[in-house]
Amino acid sequence: MLEQLKKDVYKANMELVKKGLVLYTWGNVSAIDQDRRYVVIKPSGVDYEQMTYEDMVVVNIDGEIVEGKLKPSSDTKTHLEIYKAFTDTWAVAHTHSVYAVSYAQAGRNVIPMGSTHADYFYGEVPCTRAMMPEEIRNEYEKNTGKVITETFKNKDYNAIPACLVRNHGPFTWGNTAMEAVFHSVVLEEIARIAFITERINKDIQPMSKCLLDKHFKRKHGKEAYYGQDDEVKE
Ligand SMILES: [Zn+2]
Repeated sequence: MLEQLKKDVYKANMELVKKGLVLYTWGNVSAIDQDRRYVVIKPSGVDYEQMTYEDMVVVNIDGEIVEGKLKPSSDTKTHLEIYKAFTDTWAVAHTHSVYAVSYAQAGRNVIPMGSTHADYFYGEVPCTRAMMPEEIRNEYEKNTGKVITETFKNKDYNAIPACLVRNHGPFTWGNTAMEAVFHSVVLEEIARIAFITERINKDIQPMSKCLLDKHFKRKHGKEAYYGQDDEVKE
């Protein structure tokens, strides 16, 4: 079942490796089917070199295995919480990329300071609150998802497709598995640039709302004009 989605999810997982965002078996990508009943996700702890698209695991929205010989990613319940709350989100990616994790460990949001950030994230990429001991001890992965959706209570998850989980790392999402990965790659780059910028000028302020609006809106939404007319605006 869901053969094409398995291929898409496999390809997106391999893209994380190609882009240098994961070491060993860290990182995972999933996507949800059109009816939002099943999620295809990377198996847990399988080497990327040995993995094939047929190893992708299909789970239902409660996390029960529907198809697949291997156990799904240990972060599956985090992905499921994101799908339940963000009903326009079709894919989720998670990495331990260095700069994004560093902001997560520092408990810092990545503030928008330039057009690279504004082209893809319409405002600061937030870092969640720290998780409580009872949230860590019981249903940790599910609660990791909940702390992400709680952080976006008053934010537009379509306009800011990324979150840093405090003391852990980034989760990103998108319309397709490849787009979720693309957002992980861009997030890592803007976190790296932000880190350098903050070292050059420790009093740096966020960019102007006017410039943020200009850059985000020329690529996203009704008035977008960046790229060719038949092109997906990435
Ligand atoms: Zn992780």
